[in-house]
Amino acid sequence: MLVVMKAQATPDEIRAVCEHIEQLGFRAHPLPGAQRTAIGITGNQGEVDRGNLEELPGVAEVIRVSKAYKLASRDVKEEDTVIRFAGTNATIGGLDLAVIAGPCSIESRDQAFAIAELVAAAGAQFFRGGAYKPRTSPYAFQGLGLEALRIMAEIRSRFGMRIVTEAIDNESLELVAEYADIIQIGARNMQNYSLLKSAGRLRKPVLLKRGLSATLEEFLMSAEYVMSEGNYEVILCERGVRTFADHARNTLDLSIVPAIQRVSHLPILVDPSHGTGRRDSVLPMARAAVATGADGVLVEVHHQPDKALSDGPQSIYPRQFASMMDEIGQIAPIVGRQLPRGIHVDAAVV
Ligand code: PEP
Ligand code: MN
Repeated sequence: MLVVMKAQATPDEIRAVCEHIEQLGFRAHPLPGAQRTAIGITGNQGEVDRGNLEELPGVAEVIRVSKAYKLASRDVKEEDTVIRFAGTNATIGGLDLAVIAGPCSIESRDQAFAIAELVAAAGAQFFRGGAYKPRTSPYAFQGLGLEALRIMAEIRSRFGMRIVTEAIDNESLELVAEYADIIQIGARNMQNYSLLKSAGRLRKPVLLKRGLSATLEEFLMSAEYVMSEGNYEVILCERGVRTFADHARNTLDLSIVPAIQRVSHLPILVDPSHGTGRRDSVLPMARAAVATGADGVLVEVHHQPDKALSDGPQSIYPRQFASMMDEIGQIAPIVGRQLPRGIHVDAAVV
């Protein structure tokens, strides 16, 4: 159910409706829009009795949301969600394209700084790097953990880039949330509902990667898990799905971008690195992602990919990253977007 408030409804009226919903034993999710605020209701098993609600001051109408995902749906919030990073000009989901770049894993301070310097110089606003790695083999490099988080925090203060890193379980989530600006939840964890709920209780943006065989609805239901706990800052990321095709590691499903945008207000990025698994495919698919209307790209970059401890074959060289920035920057205006170069951070913010 969704309570649509009148355009002129006051904050007090909105609060009173939320309290009324909570008194009924449900959860209220006020989602302010450009024209009016809508209040999503979750926690109800069946229909909520709309009688009383419609009579409360400031209420325009009460409508049933028929889709399985509610808070992620455009029925609840028509305008695109734009995620902002306090004290910086970086956004995800607005006019500006978001570019997240960095190695698959943080391997050492020197490696991370070498790559960070190069991607920052090419204009990246977000730096990625795995501290905790969800590897297919238990014998493969599992990440530097806390040490990597500390290195990334140093990178943020040195270059200004906001930090994106993955939480692989409830234990790592707490530490990741302390250090990162965006908490990544990986493809293999897309249906780890306890992790999604824990991330939903935090107030930090969550970058949710599509599961290896997830449908659009399953993908949005996972976003819904995060949002149902009150964290509405979810960024979706298409990273390729498993198919019979064997020319690439995964099949990058760019067609999900317009499909998601039709039904959801959440931003959606594309990861052509995991989506193809091949360095030579990353740039063409990054161009295609931007042309498709994605809100940005996430790419793996390494200055010495042959020595990378994870995902070397799909990591692009820094000079290829610089070309990618130039090319997607040229495509952006054709699809009504622009590519910011570099991040501006207020002096008061680190
Ligand atoms: C990653 O971003 O390095 C990663 C492990 O991605 P995914 O969860 O999409 O495989
Ligand atoms: Mn990787």
